[in-house]
Amino acid sequence: MEYRELGKTGIKVSRLCFGGLTVGPLQANLPLEEGAEVIAEAFRQGVNFIDTAEIYRTYPYIARALKQTSKPIVVASKTYAFDRKGAARSLDKARKELDRDYIDIFLLHEQESEWTLRGHREALEYFYECKAKGIIRAVGISTHHIAAVRAASRMDGIDVIHPIVNYKGIGIIDGTIDEMLQAIKEAYDRGIGIYAMKPLGGGNLIRNVEKCIDYVLNIPFIHSIALGMQSIEEVHVNISYFEGKPIDDKILYKLKERKRRLHIEEWCEGCGECVPACAHGAISVREGKLHLEDEKCILCGYCGSRCKNFAIKVI
Ligand code: SF4
Ligand code: SF4
Repeated sequence: MEYRELGKTGIKVSRLCFGGLTVGPLQANLPLEEGAEVIAEAFRQGVNFIDTAEIYRTYPYIARALKQTSKPIVVASKTYAFDRKGAARSLDKARKELDRDYIDIFLLHEQESEWTLRGHREALEYFYECKAKGIIRAVGISTHHIAAVRAASRMDGIDVIHPIVNYKGIGIIDGTIDEMLQAIKEAYDRGIGIYAMKPLGGGNLIRNVEKCIDYVLNIPFIHSIALGMQSIEEVHVNISYFEGKPIDDKILYKLKERKRRLHIEEWCEGCGECVPACAHGAISVREGKLHLEDEKCILCGYCGSRCKNFAIKVI
């Protein structure tokens, strides 16, 4: 496994980052022991970097996997907190549930532009203070917006950006993949650590998995790539691919055939609580029923975090 310095953070990360969303309740919903074992196997095989977020509800899996390794693992998490109180609550929750004194990388989740960054200024200031005290090692943002990458890269104090990158530009909200790459390069040139998300477009490009991974691996200004994994088989395939080793064709075929989709349960009440969680405009309530536009859905599963009835999830 190749490792790279994440910009100027002084943090060295594996090129493959374990995308923590997939094992948890918003997606595969693996039993705790099984999900932790998938993560632990990735750590055993050389992955030293895992990405999660408060809304993914995967801290228990990660905490359990961390207990199984003596290697130093870099953990990144994200929060929607915008004020000091929310930021403190979010960071404390991460430290407590991950059983860690510090969090390596703490990000503002789903930033959109200079304006949302301004709206989160209080939270950011709090995180800068925590960084000075050693409770956070690097501060940053995650985003599907080119405008947010541009705004964050010009701000003092932003160490890391976690942008969406895939060859089709699926999930980029305000422009093309070329424009996104231009903005990312600008950030990289300023010494910001870049780890990309959704190289497979949230699973939509799974049939072209080799093309997807080659595309992101060949971008010289991306330090690491977060990839969701939900089985040990998938961990082995991804690690082999990142290390340039041959992959068993049968296993690759099986993974490519695993079609993922957003499932709405029959007990959905059509209340619309989940609709604002979708930045892609893929769900709406029409005549009292939740309506999905498949072609807009990037299978992120964020809508599921808003449903108290557990009526919507990626399967
Ligand atoms: S999925 Fe849940 S939150 Fe969304 S409309 Fe149905 S019941 Fe409401
Ligand atoms: S509908 Fe749900 S899974 Fe699909 S893009 Fe929107 S939030 Fe993500």
